[in-house]
Amino acid sequence: MLTIAVSKGRIYEDALPLLEAAGIVPLDDPKKCRKLILDTNRDDVRLIIIRATDVPTFVEHGAADLGIAGKDVLLEHGAQTLYEPLDLGIARCRMMTATFVDAPPMGRRVRVATKYVKTAKSYFANLGIQAEIIKLYGSMELAPLVGLADCIVDLVETGNTLKANGLEPKELICEISSRLVVNKASMKMKHALIQPLIDQFEITLANQ
Ligand code: AMP
Repeated sequence: MLTIAVSKGRIYEDALPLLEAAGIVPLDDPKKCRKLILDTNRDDVRLIIIRATDVPTFVEHGAADLGIAGKDVLLEHGAQTLYEPLDLGIARCRMMTATFVDAPPMGRRVRVATKYVKTAKSYFANLGIQAEIIKLYGSMELAPLVGLADCIVDLVETGNTLKANGLEPKELICEISSRLVVNKASMKMKHALIQPLIDQFEITLANQ
């Protein structure tokens, strides 16, 4: 049995056509049922649909053999114990700093609100900027508006969320997309099942 952990929401929706092209079709729609484990048309493949931040944990511990998760989540998790054989090119966005449209240039000290503590820490450290990182779990845009932080580090796709709150993206930290990750032991033990899947994903991506 192969277990594939997929981040719920937009990554799951974007991953469906790739899975289908690899011959894997879930038998239920997670939006319509409350199942956490989805059987597929293949007896030997099942999907688990979980929070993005939990995907690397499930794969690292071997509770899932493969996972599909955003690079933002993988960077934050540290995930060095996982193989990351493929950039699936889905759920593309950018990790950016953002603040007020007419904010003065950043000084040597800055207060940064973010969900991405590790990524933000290493970004500002590399610039030699002393950053006080304030961990938030959502609605980062609010932090500069109420004086909690000078800027935020967040994912930006269209920029509309920032704009609606009088903010704008400033510096690019990194490009983000979803990646296929594989448990190292599974890669050895279930190679005959996993390698053809990776090959099929690669073929689909090359033909896009
Ligand atoms: P946008 O307004 O299109 O720039 O989207 C920004 C909002 O969507 C922010 O709250 C982001 O955290 C979230 N977001 C954008 N792209 C992604 C992505 N690929 N994965 C997860 N969240 C995202």
